[in-house]
Amino acid sequence: MKKKPDREERDAREAFLAAARGLWPAVKGSLARVARPCGRPGQCAACRSGRRHPMWIFTFRQEGRLRCRYVAEGLVPALRRAVANGRKLEKRLSEEGAALIERYRRARSSREAQE
Ligand SMILES: [Zn+2]
Repeated sequence: MKKKPDREERDAREAFLAAARGLWPAVKGSLARVARPCGRPGQCAACRSGRRHPMWIFTFRQEGRLRCRYVAEGLVPALRRAVANGRKLEKRLSEEGAALIERYRRARSSREAQE
């Protein structure tokens, strides 16, 4: 038996929300480890040796502009998971477009079948 369109829409919403709930926290951006000079090469052993200063940077877009934030070492594992969750969520959102169109088509053809 076919599902009714409103029932199908409700099920799609619940399935999406259940998936999204499992993907929190989710962020969009990228995490990178960089090594930068501190700007005091004369006084800094790390910079003199060429090692410089390793740090984590989170890069993201805000209103079209590329922004960066330093990330504390302790936050790196959680932020890495959040970035992965964000990618899964984006993938899911992309799939939802095609699924929505399919539901619309099925609803329209079942309405036409009843006429
Ligand atoms: Zn330095």
